[in-house]
Amino acid sequence: MVEIAGRLETLVGGADFDVTGFDAGRAAACAGSLTRFIHHAAVPGKQSVPLFKVLLTNACMNDCAYCANRAGRDCRRYSFQPDELAKLFMDLHSKKLVKGLFLTSGVAENTARTQETMIRTVEILREKHGFRGYVHLKILPGAPFDCVEEACRIASRVSLNMEAPTAAHLARLSAIKDLYHGIVERMRWIKDLADGGRGLVPAGQTTQFVAGAAGESDRDILRTTGALYRELDLKRVYFSAFRPVRQTPLEGLGPASPGREHRLYQADWLLRVYGFSLQEVELAAGDRGNLSLSKDPKLVIAAKQPWLYPVDINRASYPELLRVPGIGPISARRIIEARGEHSIFSLNQLRKMRVVIRQSAPYIWFQGMEEHEKQASFLPELERVVSPRPASLAALCGGQG
Ligand code: SF4
Repeated sequence: MVEIAGRLETLVGGADFDVTGFDAGRAAACAGSLTRFIHHAAVPGKQSVPLFKVLLTNACMNDCAYCANRAGRDCRRYSFQPDELAKLFMDLHSKKLVKGLFLTSGVAENTARTQETMIRTVEILREKHGFRGYVHLKILPGAPFDCVEEACRIASRVSLNMEAPTAAHLARLSAIKDLYHGIVERMRWIKDLADGGRGLVPAGQTTQFVAGAAGESDRDILRTTGALYRELDLKRVYFSAFRPVRQTPLEGLGPASPGREHRLYQADWLLRVYGFSLQEVELAAGDRGNLSLSKDPKLVIAAKQPWLYPVDINRASYPELLRVPGIGPISARRIIEARGEHSIFSLNQLRKMRVVIRQSAPYIWFQGMEEHEKQASFLPELERVVSPRPASLAALCGGQG
């Protein structure tokens, strides 16, 4: 029996391919102590929560070309037993080092059996140890419906990683995985279970893309991301910049820039929080379909729609204000609130409302400027850019529909 610390090194390190808002700087600072096994993650309703993020096993029968755990790779394989892993978690929890669990896994020889073992681990936590806190449980591609339903019953949040945005891109990464039937179909089950009125999986579902492994563009990723929010009500989509791993088919491929990951998160924020349409966000992609590494996507989008500006700061609606670079949801709400009492007539007033003047000044006008009278509301122009119907998940991911 390999010592627990040795298995932890492998099974916690091996879980890094799942993004949770992991704070690498903190982990490095804690190296040498137990806390290096703890990941700080964004959890619904809370800023950051310490999670014990771990693989049940790094044995896997799948062949994802970028993954250190892929079948056939020459590395030691370890596993935890459900009881043992539950006890380890409770030890960390009783020392107040963690508040929740993120349990993921390779697919050891049989999908259903591995998923059942993961579920059993959480059942032990819930039933034997009485743990009521946050659990994020990974659903394995191809998991049977019974397992998905049970996972939704005991977990706070579940996730299935798509890794690539279309069936054609996933085919470059794996000869085994089926994007539509193995992954998207299960995501639909999860949505139906969450919507079923039984209080299942209260924190919803998420997914992740590896950016830069399959030759996909940012536009490819954003189109599927938009379809996931639209059709399956995903709570979050995560992006992980590809990093080559030794002894994998992609070991010779250069790493994706962390800047690419950052720009994808900015574009995702426009879709998910600002309410931009997918077609508007796509304006940020250049000729090859990628976001600029040097310029914020919101600035690129603004530059491509000059007819929307300048925005009259004293008359603009909330969506119009949100389209001004340097104005976010907080500052847009403050502007609207302030306008109920008085007009806005200086940059200083806006600065106090958390507007980033450096970015917003070229895009706004104050009440009283002659030119603003010529500015029609731009919402009809927005209609113009949303004309083509976005592709469905089925069309993007190889389904029939
Ligand atoms: S399913 Fe793919 S990504 Fe997940 S552990 Fe196995 S090889 Fe790695």
